[in-house]
Amino acid sequence: MNRRDFLKTVGGVAAAGTMIGSMRPFAQAGAQADASSGTGFPLGVWTSIYNKYSESPEATYQRLERLAEGGIDLLVPLVEIGGGRAGVMWHSQLVPVCYKCPEDWDPVEVFVNAAHELGMEVHPWLCCFNGKVARYLREQHPETTAIFSESENWAWAARHKNYACAMQPRVQKFIFDAYRELGERYGPDGFHMDYIRTGSQCTCDYCTAEMAKLGLDIRAMQARYDQDRDFWLKAGTHGLMRKYGVRKVVGSDEEIDPVVVDEELDRWLAWRIDRLTYFVSQLHQYAHKHDQVTSAAVKFFWPRQCPTGAQDWVRWTRENILDYMMSMNYTADPQFVARLASEQTQLIAGSKCQYWPGLGRTAEQWTTTPEALVEQVEIARNGGAHGAMIFNESGLTDDDLALLKDL
Ligand SMILES: [Zn+2]
Repeated sequence: MNRRDFLKTVGGVAAAGTMIGSMRPFAQAGAQADASSGTGFPLGVWTSIYNKYSESPEATYQRLERLAEGGIDLLVPLVEIGGGRAGVMWHSQLVPVCYKCPEDWDPVEVFVNAAHELGMEVHPWLCCFNGKVARYLREQHPETTAIFSESENWAWAARHKNYACAMQPRVQKFIFDAYRELGERYGPDGFHMDYIRTGSQCTCDYCTAEMAKLGLDIRAMQARYDQDRDFWLKAGTHGLMRKYGVRKVVGSDEEIDPVVVDEELDRWLAWRIDRLTYFVSQLHQYAHKHDQVTSAAVKFFWPRQCPTGAQDWVRWTRENILDYMMSMNYTADPQFVARLASEQTQLIAGSKCQYWPGLGRTAEQWTTTPEALVEQVEIARNGGAHGAMIFNESGLTDDDLALLKDL
């Protein structure tokens, strides 16, 4: 089907319905699925429906054609609003639809179908507990907002005040339902989890009550954090290092003897990690039931991010409840990419999870060249990655794509 024929199907529910499922370019087989077309090293890119794909079906097809011709195999489009309001970029019945979302055609439907037509896979991306779906729930039910310490510095707090409490069953269900709506409507190949972390340790009523059941006084714990945050973070990190029998934090040169023991903190942390892991496992179970996969953007410095974020991606890979681990290894330093690849592949060795490190094309502080980006991709490949993700489409030039397509 060429572009003109594809565009004839846009807006026709019946036509779109026949495309979903039948047009998938790669047979899905759960964790064994490989987005590669089989001719090169698989590449993915993070992008945004809000920023780039709500203009017209034709513009969507043209943009995606450029990526397909540039060797991109997997697309991870943010499907929430990019601005400050609650809402989404698909014709949702669950969450308010963005004013920028066209009424006569659905940008996510067109995106998924066009990508499939062009031979690419799609994982719609939600910023789980800090996104605009979660924001809508918090606006409706303020008690679902996470309560962080007053002692967090103001800039950090300003960025993180938007978290819903990832521990609360009601919050988890709402985010899960949003993924399910995307799955049922559009038949994507997978579901992408960003902000699959808690922000900081939460002291909402739910968390307080649950911790009391475990015999822990959450206020006292929080007071200890406020008094000596460095010790608290070290103790939490050491607890996990002992559990896994590791002596290095990913991305750190230091060899550590994890001797700091804080049994109460370990218990609190274990509960929080269990709760977040439960969400990851539920989405994975749902995805696999429908012949789909899950992917997650995670922080690279494991397990140091766990005491606050509860994001134990090593566990998710070892328990085979995550199909694509996409650590955000954004740096201008190629040696750092190599070191992270070495450490991360060792930590997830033996799992079925695919390792697709996220590489940055541009950031606020630096920018790479097309050659430097390709060098990082090669380093990741040589370091054992199954594919690589690029952040993000906005920084991806025609020169980048010309080089990437030959990989
Ligand atoms: Zn909470």
